[in-house]
This record gives sequence, structure tokens and C-alpha cells, in this order.
Amino acid sequence: MSRTGIFLLTFLLNSTFSQNVSAATKAIAFGTLWDGHRVIANAVVIVENDKVQRVTAGDDIPAEAEVIDLRRYTGIPGMIDSHTHVTYYWDGAPDTTPRRQPPRHVAVTVFLAQQNAKKTLEAGVTTIRDLNAAGGADIAMRDLINMGAMVGPRMFVSGTGLRTYVNRPDITDPVAEAANQAKAVIDSGADWVKVFASTGGFDNVTGDQTMSYEEMKAIVDTAHAAGHKVAIHSYGPAAARDAIRAGGDTLEHATDMDDNTIAELARKKIWYVPTIDHNQYYVENADDVYKFAAGAKDNLRNYISRNFETARKAHRAGVRMLAGSDAVYNGFGLNMRELTWFVKLGMTNQQALQAATVLPAEMLGLESSIGSIAPGYFADIVGVEGDPLTNIDAVKNVRWVMKGGVVVVDKTGAFRPR
Ligand SMILES: [Zn+2]
Repeated sequence: MSRTGIFLLTFLLNSTFSQNVSAATKAIAFGTLWDGHRVIANAVVIVENDKVQRVTAGDDIPAEAEVIDLRRYTGIPGMIDSHTHVTYYWDGAPDTTPRRQPPRHVAVTVFLAQQNAKKTLEAGVTTIRDLNAAGGADIAMRDLINMGAMVGPRMFVSGTGLRTYVNRPDITDPVAEAANQAKAVIDSGADWVKVFASTGGFDNVTGDQTMSYEEMKAIVDTAHAAGHKVAIHSYGPAAARDAIRAGGDTLEHATDMDDNTIAELARKKIWYVPTIDHNQYYVENADDVYKFAAGAKDNLRNYISRNFETARKAHRAGVRMLAGSDAVYNGFGLNMRELTWFVKLGMTNQQALQAATVLPAEMLGLESSIGSIAPGYFADIVGVEGDPLTNIDAVKNVRWVMKGGVVVVDKTGAFRPR
């Protein structure tokens, strides 16, 4: 072992957490590191400012580096939640439910939703794709976070989702209007365009198609021409079929798809975000939080089983799937429960982890900057207790999170032996 290696070990064994928080170079030691592709024992990640400089075996630590000892934990890339609603805020006030709250100014929503953003980071999620918000609250949060004025995950946002323009007395040409509205949402600052192509949401598990194929096609073509991508919500199979035909980039929820539809999804390499766990979250909160009507839980459980079965078929057919929590209100912090369903439906633990790291990075077009721990990538790094490669539930035990070289969550103290 080199002298610096011996120095590192001595340093690690003798010191508590380094106090040198301003150091531009950090050396983060993990017992095990999964970098997005492979496992490295006793790895040390060298972080220079906001980027990973290199991953070493621990014998060439720069002398000036601040050493962070996370050897009790497994290091994984900062995770990516492909479907959130971070601006859906609820304070739990008496006599309210998440869906029955007094109206708020959008600036108040932006301020309050910081709590959702913080809980998201605490779940080990350093990037989210947020799909539907009112009044530009998502765009404001994205920009404030990018400026460093607000603490939260990197955000890729859709603004307000588009709904059908058919049967609206004020609109004579629904297809042209769909294209116009796609352009308008992009011009307002949205990264993505979100489309609601069917019913379904909260305690409503119907999946009736609400937007025509022609409208979807007009939106997709307009967005693609402007260099943007489209996420299409369909609870049921009919709108999913048309979403795939129209060339949507990601398909959300989409239950009861038949084999041909699933085969098309795989062939066209459209990303599938099944969001299985979000209905389990609704089951758990149906009575006390949402006060759903009697029967809602049975409907939700029935939908979950069909959603799960569809996702299992899709995985077997080679469809590329992403972890999306569809987190709302008090659901933040549970973001990565979806991975447990993914393992249950047949993914290996590594495949499930990749559905929350390297694959969504590719979906976002950021496969060279996030989703992996590798030289030149943003230093988005999470320390979890346990080994998610043998027990996927370990992703719920997040103890430490770095985003872009800055430590944003540190719960290591409570677990340090005295
Ligand atoms: Zn959603």
C-alpha cells in the first residue's frame, strides 16, 4: 500500500467526520460501491467541485482532500424518479384533505413545496421528472434549485399537462389547438410536454381514452420539432395504443395493454413508467388522509394487480422500464418503493436499480452526466445502509446524499458508534 493509502486509513480510523466542508476536493470512502454498472469493493470516489474526478481503490487520495468515511454504507448513484408531482403540497391541516385545501398563490406553493423537494432528496433522489403543475410552480422551482437558491433535486418539468380540445365550444380545430398548446407550454419554459390521454388518477382507476390520436400526434410532432419530448398518461390500453402510434417518448401507468401493444412499445423503444406503487400509497392513505369513498380501496387493489401483471409482461417482452413514483402530497420520501415491485415482477436487483439510475438518465438525454458514478459525471452520490444488490429494500435506508458535490442529506451521525 502506498503512503497516501496508509495515511488515508489512519485518517479514517482516527477522525470523526471532517469539518473541512469547503474543500473543493472530497474523497468519499465506501465499503461497497455500485457505480451504475458494476460493484467495486472498498472504493473511494474523488469529487472535484461538482463532478466526479475518478473512482479509486483508495491508494491515491489527494493530500488536500476532505475525506468522508462512509465505509459502513453502500454507495450508489443519485437516483432519478421519472414521474413526480413535487408541487402537490399538503400541510395536513385539520378539516382538509390533500384534494380539499384552500387555494394558494403560486408563490406560496413554490415556497411550501420545498418540503417535498427535501423529502425527495432524503429518499436518495437527486433528479426528478415532474409531470404536471399549476401556474408555472414547477418551472420556478427548477430555476430556483438550479440557481442554488432552493435545495432540491434537479428538475425536468412539464408545466401544465395538456388535455383534449375536442368538444370545447370555443375551439373549432382541436388538432391545431393541441399543436398550439404544445408550443405554448414549451415557450413558457417547460422541458417536457405532458399529455393526459385518458381518465384515471387518485381514487379514479378508469382508463377511458380522452384525447384523440390526431391530437396526440400533433403534440408529439410539435414538441419533437422544437427538440422536446412528450410524456403520455394513459391508465387504460386504448389511449396507450394511440400514444405509441403517435410516437410519444414515455408512456405513464398504461395498464391492460395487450401483447401486440407491448410488442410495439418494445420495438419503438418507448419508455414505460408503470407507477405501480402509487396506487398502493393511495390504498394506505385512502381512509385517514384522502377520505376516499367506500369501495375505493378495492378498486385500487384491483388496478394494482392488473398494473403489475402488465408491467411483468412488458419486462418479459424487453420493454425499457423506469421507476416513477407518481409521488404527491405526503407521498414524498417513498419515491423508491417502486423498485420493490420491479424486483417482484422479475427484474434482477441491478436491473431495478438501473431503472432508477442509468436508464432514466438516458431517457432524459443525460446519460453522459447523471445516473452513474464515473469521471466527468455530476457528483450525485447516495450512501445506503445495507446492500441493495442483494436486498432491494435497502434503497429505502438512505443515510447520506450528495448532489453536485454538495452534501444535502447527512443522517450518518445517529448511526456512528460513540
Ligand atoms: Zn402523475
